Amino acid sequence: MSVKTDIEIAREAKTRPIVDIAAKIGIPTNALIPYGWTKAKVSFDYIDQIQANKNGNLILVTAISPTPAGEGKTTTTVGLGDGLNRIGKKAIMALREPSLGPCFGMKGGAAGGGYAQVVPMEDINLHFTGDFHAITAANNLLAAMIDNHIYWGNALGIDQRRVAWKRVLDVNDRALRQIVNSLGGVANGYPRESGFDITVASEVMAVFCLAKNLKDLEERLGNIIVAYTRDKKPIRARDLKADGAMTVLLKDALQPNLVQTLENNPVFIHGGPFANIAHGCNSVLATTTALKLADYVVTEAGFGADLGAEKFFDIKCRKAGIAPSVVVIVATVRALKMHGGVAKDNLKAENVEAVIKGCENLKRHIENVNKFGVPAVVAVNKFIADTDAEIAEVQKAAESMGTRAFSCTHWSDGGKGTEALAHHVVKVIDEGKASFKPLYPVEMKLRDKVKTIAQEIYRAADIACDASVETQFKDFEAGGFGHFPVCMAKTQYSFSTDPGKRGAPTGHVVPIRELRLSAGAEFIVVVTGEIMTMPGLPSVPAANSIRLDDKGQIQGLF
Ligand code: ADP
Ligand code: MG
Repeated sequence: MSVKTDIEIAREAKTRPIVDIAAKIGIPTNALIPYGWTKAKVSFDYIDQIQANKNGNLILVTAISPTPAGEGKTTTTVGLGDGLNRIGKKAIMALREPSLGPCFGMKGGAAGGGYAQVVPMEDINLHFTGDFHAITAANNLLAAMIDNHIYWGNALGIDQRRVAWKRVLDVNDRALRQIVNSLGGVANGYPRESGFDITVASEVMAVFCLAKNLKDLEERLGNIIVAYTRDKKPIRARDLKADGAMTVLLKDALQPNLVQTLENNPVFIHGGPFANIAHGCNSVLATTTALKLADYVVTEAGFGADLGAEKFFDIKCRKAGIAPSVVVIVATVRALKMHGGVAKDNLKAENVEAVIKGCENLKRHIENVNKFGVPAVVAVNKFIADTDAEIAEVQKAAESMGTRAFSCTHWSDGGKGTEALAHHVVKVIDEGKASFKPLYPVEMKLRDKVKTIAQEIYRAADIACDASVETQFKDFEAGGFGHFPVCMAKTQYSFSTDPGKRGAPTGHVVPIRELRLSAGAEFIVVVTGEIMTMPGLPSVPAANSIRLDDKGQIQGLF
């Protein structure tokens, strides 16, 4: 049997005009800013008008600790959204915008898969409505204004050795990681070491995704710390008078993008910050707008629940004043087998014992989610090779934790494949058991916040900080940033900081290497390992086989 590729399935989609999709959720045509027939932004004016509407129920889709075997959070978010619509509920999905750069590296899009996809997938994965280009422009305008300020006399006294702001591009290009800029003589400025990050790693992206409206966006952009003076006084984007112009560049981009699933259900795809040095969720504006328009909003957070869900709760929900009613944890039999010790090459053979062992990872994620006062339900994203005996073990594991697991076939069957899960999710919401609370209060000391996450979520014995990190904790508190939440940058592959430790390790120590202040986004990034903010391309990049065919259609994109 030949399996169709994602792009082949997407191309066969019977898309409807975006105005029809909008009408399904009550958005009038004059509230749309169309980008062609199948994409539109929803206007700020309209978003203002619906603020008195009652909020729908928020459903977070997260996952067990990821493995190279793949979990399928986005695919399951789309499948569940379609499933809820199929059983007659008014549901919208809210997803992240994919980054263009990685599309040309490893194969794989980010608009779902199989029969649970969002279309037009080529557009969504590439330029889409230009949001990321606007973010790139705003970020680089600020960079240009810093160097320009120094060039024209440096009235603010910026210490050129302490410029913290980098330029960005939406590419995977290792040659840009470390550069020297302004070479070539007096007219080109003062040479200094710098580098590029990928656009999604820009603090502008994190700010964009946490901003409640344009005013809040401008305020947060102004707060970004770009450099320090010789006596370590922070210089903000506002000091350079860059905040106004950056907001102008972002004003259209900040309006959420509306698209549709293969089953013609509404999806907001908006914003896409990194999940390590940022919080890894789609924009607050898209999520809060969706909540005003539907009874159920299904959204996704990056990586596994120890990282993505924790940041969703402690950063996004706290800041946006929203609270999830239920969490869906995606697991696959393949990934559970890997957590149970099976190598990637041996995943096809049935191995019930390994599934049982691997379920320790799942059970811990369930327990962790419950610590936030939210009930968890398990979605087993079914792969063709999974056996009934293996799935039964996942169900037993979920039941042992007081919840249920559902085998879901949305990848091959679309929304029909998640009907049972959708009914159960609605039932759990109706029971009204959720009473969301963040893991730690904002008043807690920064160091204690990190320790709380390490012990409660990662099940570590302790954290270990160098003297330099202890000093950073104190400096940030003295600087007035002690009330910020922390944004953990840890490997997604393990509860520990060792990506090889699968399953449910305990007793480890989490080394804290460095802290980074994101004063605009309002969190402190806690770095526990190597983090890469400008990826490179692999030896055979996907770009080698991406081209247009005779009909002008894209080939080789997934
Ligand atoms: P995540 O959001 O967790 O990163 P995605 O939903 O984007 O994962 O899925 C990753 C890849 O796995 C996609 O290319 C998708 O087509 C594929 N995939 C997801 N679920 C299945 C499945 N049940 N069977 C086969 N492939 C799948
Ligand atoms: Mg995803």
